[in-house]
Amino acid sequence: MTTELFSFAHADALDAADPLTRLRGEFLIPKHDGHEQAYFVGNSLGLQPRGARAHVEEVLDKWAAEAVEGHFTGNAQWMPYHELVREPLARVVGAKPSEVVAMNTLTVNLHLMMVSFYRPTRERPAILIEAGAFPSDRHAVASQLRFHGFDPEADLIEIEADEANGTISMGAIERAIAQHGRRLALVLWPGVQYRTGQAFDLKEIVRLAHAQGAVCGFDLAHGVGNLQLELHDSGVDFAVWCHYKYMNSGPGAVAGCFVHERHADTDRPRFAGWWGHDVSTRFRMGPQFVPTPGAEGWQLSNPPILGLAPLRASLELYDRVGMQSLRERSRRLTGYLEKLIHARLGDTLQIVTPGDPVRRGCQLSLRVVGGRERGRALFEYLAANGVLGDWREPDVIRISPAPLYNTHNDVLRFAQAVENWTHESRRNG
Ligand SMILES: *Cc1c(COP(=O)(O)O)cnc(C)c1O
Repeated sequence: MTTELFSFAHADALDAADPLTRLRGEFLIPKHDGHEQAYFVGNSLGLQPRGARAHVEEVLDKWAAEAVEGHFTGNAQWMPYHELVREPLARVVGAKPSEVVAMNTLTVNLHLMMVSFYRPTRERPAILIEAGAFPSDRHAVASQLRFHGFDPEADLIEIEADEANGTISMGAIERAIAQHGRRLALVLWPGVQYRTGQAFDLKEIVRLAHAQGAVCGFDLAHGVGNLQLELHDSGVDFAVWCHYKYMNSGPGAVAGCFVHERHADTDRPRFAGWWGHDVSTRFRMGPQFVPTPGAEGWQLSNPPILGLAPLRASLELYDRVGMQSLRERSRRLTGYLEKLIHARLGDTLQIVTPGDPVRRGCQLSLRVVGGRERGRALFEYLAANGVLGDWREPDVIRISPAPLYNTHNDVLRFAQAVENWTHESRRNG
């Protein structure tokens, strides 16, 4: 049984049976020793879609040939360029087109959202996050607290992991929200926790936060393009994410932002810029700011067109597949990885990520048995054999089979390399 599981004939048959395997051909796969890498680092920097270059070159060519006129000519004119990505992006995150905008970068968007949606009072100053949040998120919320004259020591509440693997139960979240309820201004939560790979029930967290009168926002850096999100129906107040991880839009790509339509005409304060001004009167250049209704009203500047261009290529692929079938493929790939580990690799790897597919995305975080030194040795062996994961101190390797370009064959290459290393390191004592 495990012999079949561990055979390339089996892995290749699984790939052949799935029409989505063909999408791999839409990506440029880095090589190692002349062979395509088994690249599992889409959680960090997604691979380049073949279509990205043409969209970037289109902008360069237009700039060369037309210069300022490029703002007003052709199907991809720059003036409304960000609108080209609006509808496909809304489909990826389960939103209405007016609820999303591609702009800035993730941490900038998080600050802009907190300017509007973190409105602390003396009675209600607190922000609730997870302990061990991504550092940028923690810096952002702590600095917002200080900016408003509050002390993170007192008013930044961090929920500790309560499950054996370092994951957080829904019960712990519920208890913390109930315990601090009247003092909570904002609950800021991840869609998928970057270190453990745990996915959360957004709708339920929103429900709990709203029941206490708190605003509820999400950082979807590891959730977008990975989970099947329903931001509108989940009632999320705001969300931010980047496009360089699972969204494959290139290093430092322009990020994304969601504002629920019930806040479309909010009179909450915001940091404004001319690109958020009502489109119909923006170029009258008047002194009064009248926001465009919806998420686009939070834009500051005219967007970096060269930064947006690769996102178009990525979204074309998401539109071709749809998040639902992509998520189904993702479950199969990660399920295969999990099966291989349980079948033969349990002496070397412990899975940190929850086993219930509803509580994870594509990533499995794998603790290497025996500690940091052994972990580093395995990690380096994998890289030397063309299998790329990433390392999180002190002893975790993250492996993220991205359903757009990873295959069962890739997953098996990982498992075989781990098995070979385990045998070799035993022989070498
Ligand atoms: C990747 C990531 C970031 C990165 O922030 P940038 O502003 O894009 O540099 C922030 N938060 C989380 C949770 C992330 O996973």
